[in-house]
Amino acid sequence: MLKLKNYINGEWRSTSSEDVNVVINPANQEIIAYAPRSSKEETEEAIRAARVAFDSGIWSSKTTHERAAILNAIADKIDERAEELTVLETMDNGKRKDEAAFDIADAATCFRYYAGLILHPEGETYQVPDTVQSMVVKEPVGVAGLIVPWNFPLLMGVWKIAPALAAGNSIVYKPAELTPITTTKLFEIMEEVGIPKGVANLVMGRGSVVGQTIAESKDVDLVSFTGSTEVGREIMRAAAGNLKKISLELGGKSPNIVFADADLETAVDYGLFGIFFGSGQVCSSGSRILVEESIYDEYVARYVERAKNIKVGPGLQEGIDVGAIVSEGQMNSILEYIEIGKLEGATLATGGYRLTENGLDKGFFIAPTVFIDVTNDMRIVREEIFGPVVTIQKFSTEEEAIRLANDSDYGLAGAVFSNDGAKALRVIKQIRAGITWINYYHPTYVEAPWGGYKQSGIGRSLGKYGLDDFQEIKQINVQLNVQPINWFTS
Ligand code: NAD
Repeated sequence: MLKLKNYINGEWRSTSSEDVNVVINPANQEIIAYAPRSSKEETEEAIRAARVAFDSGIWSSKTTHERAAILNAIADKIDERAEELTVLETMDNGKRKDEAAFDIADAATCFRYYAGLILHPEGETYQVPDTVQSMVVKEPVGVAGLIVPWNFPLLMGVWKIAPALAAGNSIVYKPAELTPITTTKLFEIMEEVGIPKGVANLVMGRGSVVGQTIAESKDVDLVSFTGSTEVGREIMRAAAGNLKKISLELGGKSPNIVFADADLETAVDYGLFGIFFGSGQVCSSGSRILVEESIYDEYVARYVERAKNIKVGPGLQEGIDVGAIVSEGQMNSILEYIEIGKLEGATLATGGYRLTENGLDKGFFIAPTVFIDVTNDMRIVREEIFGPVVTIQKFSTEEEAIRLANDSDYGLAGAVFSNDGAKALRVIKQIRAGITWINYYHPTYVEAPWGGYKQSGIGRSLGKYGLDDFQEIKQINVQLNVQPINWFTS
């Protein structure tokens, strides 16, 4: 049993609150950890520690080589502890073990990427009068509040921590209550490799207390949030107090368009992977499949057949395809959406129920669920379900496919399947979304920016854009021939 502690100002601290968060393994409901539910005061203490550390320059004034060396050391330690972190992530989140292994490896890659990127600052100089040199430098924003969800517990955090630290900021980090374990291991690693006291602070607890305090604090210069669109709105309101910079990675309801000229086997395969990977608890999931009329029946038949054969089970069990749902609450919310879909008149082609046989009743598991005969006004087509539930719709023309795909409040991701390269590119360019694929689905690359249009967010993670979020831009103008301006007559 793990007893987790906050990490504030370089010290591991138990919470003074009696209110403890019991962390369970969603595959069997066994208690795996107790985590603090920190108070507003404890959160403020972490923010103060970050503020003092930032203002002292202890981290921001290190050379980029020194910071990069520390980030690389973090990456090495993550690799050394990869198996331990993978098992903990699987137990905490419920995902399939090899999915967790990818997350841990990606976390190390992300630290290495930003260690490299920070050594290549992108300065600019301008051609102004030749008596003046004008240039642009980038500086850390200051104290960064980082708030993350539970679906990729370590990786979503690292997408923020690595660029924030690379740029020289101090951080106050809040993991999701459901999945705090691997984050605490990362903070152990950061302590071991010598991140100075106060630069990296970890505070666990409720969103409404810890998250809200971070978002409201006048000592926090920037809040970088990944989570639901609903909470994203609250963060935006709370951040207005001191007009802190915000970056929001929010929800999605992403279209996956299949044209009749697509390679059908590939389109079906990625159609399944697009939604059932991570039990559909992935922001970029392809939860709305749109299929051209002439191949619709065949696509649905093949898709449903394969969906029925997906093996759902505990993440640590060999041979499973899809793991658990993260919590009872999330499972009930998904089951509720399934009922809504039925009431709305959609046809349930397969799934639609909780799995309880072969010991699965101990955990939270849902059968891969496919709805057909749906229309764009249905809630199951419009709202993010965040579970293993997909809708398959028919379209007859390219224009209709684009119209249906874009008829959404979200704009996170999308895909097109077609063997006509020009058409695929033409259509993808008209999809109002920030992350898109042609003839496949889901992979992301640390070099490429990640984020959404419309209500899917503001700003971009990863790549050089992910670093930009954590940097201020300053212009410096230097007069080369030092002399007065002589503007006034006397
Ligand atoms: P959530 O919005 O409920 O919670 C996210 C985090 O915010 C948690 O740490 C939570 O404790 C905290 N929080 C809750 N209320 C808060 C408040 N009032 N002030 C400050 N913080 C608060 O989301 P979730 O259920 O943990 O995660 C699922 C959501 O995350 C989905 O909508 C999914 O699409 C989204 N997501 C988006 C991306 C992306 O890159 N766009 C990636 C992963 C997940």
